[in-house]
Amino acid sequence: MFKAILIEKDDQGYRAGLTELDDIALPEGDVTVRVDYSTLNYKDGLAITGRSPVVRKFPMVPGVDLVGTVEHSSHPDYQVGDAVVLNGWGVGETHWGGLAQRARLKGDWLVPLPAAFTPWQAMAIATAGYTAMLCVMALERHGVTPAQGEVVVTGAAGGVGSFAVSLLAKLGYNVAAVTGRPQEADYLKGLGATTVLDRAEFTAPGKPLAKERWAGAVDTVGSHTLANVCAQMKYRGTVAACGLAGGMDFPSTVAPFILRGVTLAGVDSVMCPRPDRLQAWQRLATDLEVSHLDAITRTIGLAEALDVAPQLLAGQVRGRVVVDVNA
Ligand code: NDP
Repeated sequence: MFKAILIEKDDQGYRAGLTELDDIALPEGDVTVRVDYSTLNYKDGLAITGRSPVVRKFPMVPGVDLVGTVEHSSHPDYQVGDAVVLNGWGVGETHWGGLAQRARLKGDWLVPLPAAFTPWQAMAIATAGYTAMLCVMALERHGVTPAQGEVVVTGAAGGVGSFAVSLLAKLGYNVAAVTGRPQEADYLKGLGATTVLDRAEFTAPGKPLAKERWAGAVDTVGSHTLANVCAQMKYRGTVAACGLAGGMDFPSTVAPFILRGVTLAGVDSVMCPRPDRLQAWQRLATDLEVSHLDAITRTIGLAEALDVAPQLLAGQVRGRVVVDVNA
């Protein structure tokens, strides 16, 4: 038997609770993992609260990230005792996820725990940090360099945002952090932001083109914020768009793209091919300021994830939440 958060949807409605499950109930897969830690991402908040239909099969164990130790394996790449990390691949949406003490998965979805990180550190980073790294790699791929000017990060005090600020600052960029929480200015400056801006400047409808400000951008918010960031890009700047914390819509015009040659680079972590994942984790091992992890992250127990999920969606959680599934 193992403890898990289980989401059910039936005649009694949509609900998530802590429960005990039998190993027999685990889904199909060629690797069984004893989970050490999982995390709470925005998507896990949506799944646990039922705010958005991210869960597509019931009952479901949420948790898009996990780190743990291989207990059984018929996959050629993984042996009993190996430490492994999982991010995405629809886990926690269509396949039972990490908010449980045990998981059975496809070995092809796993990556070895990078030697540079402890299991806890890997989950402090997890999908948020790896997505932020994919965004940085997208900016680099499109030729953005620190010499070209300031870069901007929206939703900066959230999980992806905190990592984007930290990574870009460490790589030598001048980073403007956009937040709705002015009380987090010292936190963001501690991660390396040179400027902290009020998100109210970005959330209202703006002009198709505005004064050129940013060489690059990482947007976790979407909607008017993304439209305004695009309108403020310097000539040939690049925006890495990965989130929708402020809305799924994109009320923009083509003006930034056709008049300033701006690139809008989409970033997806869930189905991201394995070579890019491995590259992102390798880059995290070399480019992340590991000493920032304590400031970015807090650790909670499995049952607490149920209470923290709505707080996360309400924008009340700073940085990252690691879930110790055995606490
Ligand atoms: P968090 O909740 O940790 O961070 C989101 C941040 O966005 C908040 O902290 C807040 O930052 C800001 N925010 C929240 N609500 C609003 C609003 N209404 N208007 C403007 N800003 C708002 O979430 P994550 O960091 O885990 O995820 C961020 C986004 O990225 C989510 O939409 C998530 O779904 C997406 N994502 C996408 C991935 C991909 O593969 N493409 C992978 C991971 C996440 P502040 O308080 O600083 O203003």
